[in-house]
This record gives sequence, C-alpha cells and structure tokens, in this order.
Amino acid sequence: MDLYTVIGNPVAHSRSPAMHQHFAALTGQNISYDRTLAPVGQFTDVFQRRVAEGLLGANVTVPFKEVAWQRAEQLTARAEQAGAVNTLARQADGSWLGDNTDGAGLVADLQRLGMPLRGQRLLIVGAGGATRGILGALLAQQPASVTLANRTRAKADMLAADFAIEAVAMAALAGRQFDVLINATAASLQDLLLPLPVSLCAGAKLAYDLVYRQGGTVFEHWALAHGCAQSADGLGMLVAQGAESFALWRGVRPDWQQVLTAMREVE
Ligand code: NAP
Repeated sequence: MDLYTVIGNPVAHSRSPAMHQHFAALTGQNISYDRTLAPVGQFTDVFQRRVAEGLLGANVTVPFKEVAWQRAEQLTARAEQAGAVNTLARQADGSWLGDNTDGAGLVADLQRLGMPLRGQRLLIVGAGGATRGILGALLAQQPASVTLANRTRAKADMLAADFAIEAVAMAALAGRQFDVLINATAASLQDLLLPLPVSLCAGAKLAYDLVYRQGGTVFEHWALAHGCAQSADGLGMLVAQGAESFALWRGVRPDWQQVLTAMREVE
C-alpha cells in the first residue's frame, strides 16, 4: 500500500494520520499513513530508513522543518521563500520535492471564516518556523500592513528584515490597533497567556491561534473577553494545509471543510 508518514518530535499527539485517512476515504484512495518519531539531530537517518521502506510522501513538523528544507532536492517557490518544508513528495525519478503548505492552509481557513485580508492590518506574534511558513501567503493577500512581535526580539527583527515588514516589541503594542491578531507562538500549548496589551482586542475583528484546543485556547478566551469580535483556533489551518499536501501527493483535492467538521465532532 502507498506509504505516507508525519515525522516530528514529539509526534504521538499528531492528528495527521486520522486526517489523511479521512481525505483518502473521501477521494477513494487507498493509503497507509503513520507517525515517525525521530530523535533530535537524526531526521536524515530516520527519513532514509522510511524511504527504504517505500515512503512516497511525508509531513514534517517541529523541530525538523528547516532540516527537511535542506534535505529536499527541489523546492516549490513558497517553500524556498519560507526556508522551511512541511511536506516532502517523492518524484518519479526518486528525488524529493519540498513544499510548505502552512501559509495556504491558514489563508484558506481565514477565507472559510469570512475574513478577507486585503487592506487589513495584521499583527503576528511569534517568529518561529510557523511564522516563516505563513508570511509569504499572508503578504500575497495584500494586507494594508503586517507587524511582527516575538518574545525573543532578535528573531522577529531577522524575519521582518527578510520579508520587509515591521517588527516591534510586545510592550510597544499598547495603543496600536489591528484588524487581525494571529498567535503563531506555542504559548497556548502550555495554556500560557502572552504579555500583550488588552487594548489590542477591542478594535480587532478576529483573533486566530495556530494552536488548536477543544473549547478554545487561552489566547482566544483572552481576546474575546477584552472585546475582539471573533476567534478561531488552528484546527482549520491544520486540515487545510493537510489537504494541500494530499493534493500534491495524490493529484486530487479533498473537501477539507467536510473533514474539519468530522474532526471537530471527535475532539
Ligand atoms: P517554533 O519554531 O518552535 O517557534 C515557537 C515560537 O513560539 C517562537 O516564536 C517562540 O518565541 C514562541 N514561544 C514559545 N513559547 C512561548 C511562550 N511561553 N511565550 C511567548 N512565546 C513563546 O514553533 P513553530 O513551528 O513556529 O510553531 C508555533 C506553534 O504553531 C506551535 O504550537 C505549532 O503547534 C503551531 N502550528 C500550527 C499549525 C496548524 O496547522 N494549525 C501549523 C504550524 C504550527 P521565542 O522565539 O522567543 O522562543
């Protein structure tokens, strides 16, 4: 059977196997999709072992997106720009194509939520691999502005320079207004609130957390409690980016919103 996997550390919590089995069932495909735990520093060895077993494609998650970018023999334009790969696809000649579907996934989910980005002011908190993956796709939607803040200021400055956007300290956000607040940090995984001024919330149309959590994340609850109009977690982005990977591997695009509904029901 055609073999796919998600490689990460940790990876036991990943919902990608269930999600890709949903996609396969919806599109009449027959695939096997499992999890691969790779020790930190051993991505390439572990990946080669799976390749020897007949692997046709892989999703790559924390902390291996940058090393996967180096491993890929060809890159899509969006992966090249991101400097990070979340999807590897075996080509007919046996070489590996690296793609990054995170940005397309986020933009698709924002469209589902009725939040067009053109002309909007965006704040992104976080400057890790996820932010690298989404910035190109967000900028392509022609927002009025994109502002970046991060706990470690130097990382925000570096990313902001790469993408020609503004970076500011979190504390300097008091008094600023944005239409969309995006939490691209891992803070909500530990139920930690970011040290952001509450004045950000009242004028905001949407607070979006890349982390997903049944009942909403602490960031979502914080934003709604202080006047933000709407919030969403990152499950929609996860499913939409997964559908992009599936389309790259299988040549058929599943109805990801149907799979999102099914995954919400089993949360
Ligand atoms: P990463 O490269 O490890 O970066 C982590 C980011 O979170 C950094 O900006 C880090 O700040 C910040 N951070 C971590 N703990 C923090 C805390 N307690 N307070 C403030 N900032 C904190 O991870 P990543 O790949 O960017 O992923 C970030 C999150 O997005 C993860 O939770 C991941 O699960 C999620 N994600 C979701 C999807 C989806 O499809 N929904 C896709 C990709 C990623 P410093 O730079 O200061 O360390």
